[in-house]
Amino acid sequence: MGLFTNKDKACPICGNGTPRLFATKIEGTPICSNCNDKILADNGIVNNWTLEILKEHLAYRNENKKLVENFTPTRTVKHEREMVIDDVNQLFYFKSWVEDNPPVFKFSDIMGFNIQLAYDTVETWYKGMERTPYQPMSNGLLAGISVLAGLAGIDKSDKDESVYENLKVMLQIDTPYLHEYELCSISVSGQNQAAYMDDVARQMSKVHSLCNLLIALTKEADKSRGNRKNGF
Ligand SMILES: [Zn+2]
Repeated sequence: MGLFTNKDKACPICGNGTPRLFATKIEGTPICSNCNDKILADNGIVNNWTLEILKEHLAYRNENKKLVENFTPTRTVKHEREMVIDDVNQLFYFKSWVEDNPPVFKFSDIMGFNIQLAYDTVETWYKGMERTPYQPMSNGLLAGISVLAGLAGIDKSDKDESVYENLKVMLQIDTPYLHEYELCSISVSGQNQAAYMDDVARQMSKVHSLCNLLIALTKEADKSRGNRKNGF
């Protein structure tokens, strides 16, 4: 409230004041930040929404919240973020610090994933494909060089530069509003290129188990679909 909200321009969803600056606009009408925070959709698509679509979306998000609140996990798997799985109903979501309403996905929503290192896509997997895991070690001799340099006691620090990058896993999913979702973003770094590649290799082991789990979930979804088809 106050300086930054505009009481005269009420949010068409809930009637609250809307931000004077940088408000999300639907059909040219600003919506309040509270309603805006509830939106979880692909980048850019909100711009083309009508109020009717926004209302449907918020109802969908509300249903999602109920799913999270009533979630009965059969297991949780800790990666960078905790993955909460309900094997009975074939649902999962990722816990996060910021969202109190993380999207709940069905196993059958998983379409694929890709792994991004810095700005490069280093691995892509689609449902039904054999996975060819990204192997940073085989990518070059850098890691080997680092080990050898370490064994030989060579201090390369004078000519090396620190490297900081991000290792991300992006999930491709088939849901009405969201088609891509960031599963994790891990900082990888090293005092030089070789140490950096070592760290990438280390972090990749976490990423591999997450990716293999995703693939296992799609197989579970296919199996139960097959069973239904065969009348089991
Ligand atoms: Zn509102």
